Amino acid sequence: MDTCISRLDYMVERLKEKGFRITPQRIAIVEILANSCDHPGVDQIYREVIKKFPTTSLATVYKTITLLKEIGEVMEMGFGDECNRYDGKNPHPHPHIMCVKCKSIADPDLSSLDEISRELNMETGYKIVSHRLDFFGVCPDCQKSSE
Ligand code: ZN
Ligand code: MN
Repeated sequence: MDTCISRLDYMVERLKEKGFRITPQRIAIVEILANSCDHPGVDQIYREVIKKFPTTSLATVYKTITLLKEIGEVMEMGFGDECNRYDGKNPHPHPHIMCVKCKSIADPDLSSLDEISRELNMETGYKIVSHRLDFFGVCPDCQKSSE
């Protein structure tokens, strides 16, 4: 990926390549996905986009996410139908940690990941091509508020 163009521009370009009609509403949806660090769910994206474009339908949000997912530009984290969360900032496999209380999701920087992959390869003979690694815990804010 050309580092001179923003993640948003890159995602919009990919959608155009696929013949997807780009509307201001759709750009707004892609922008939320490209820039959010908090791994938003569909509801959160919808609430955010209708602030700017009140006539946007939930179906448009779903359709845009589905297409981005199909072309590999958004990663879906499945937590059951209603609570799926999305990462458009980094669609490549990476570990996540989720707070079981407030459902916040962060991107931990796990330096031992390469080592784990090597170990798995050695032990099983599988060539590792991807992974799903989710950790669950209580975030620092929620730890404070329960004290
Ligand atoms: Zn929390
Ligand atoms: Mn992430």
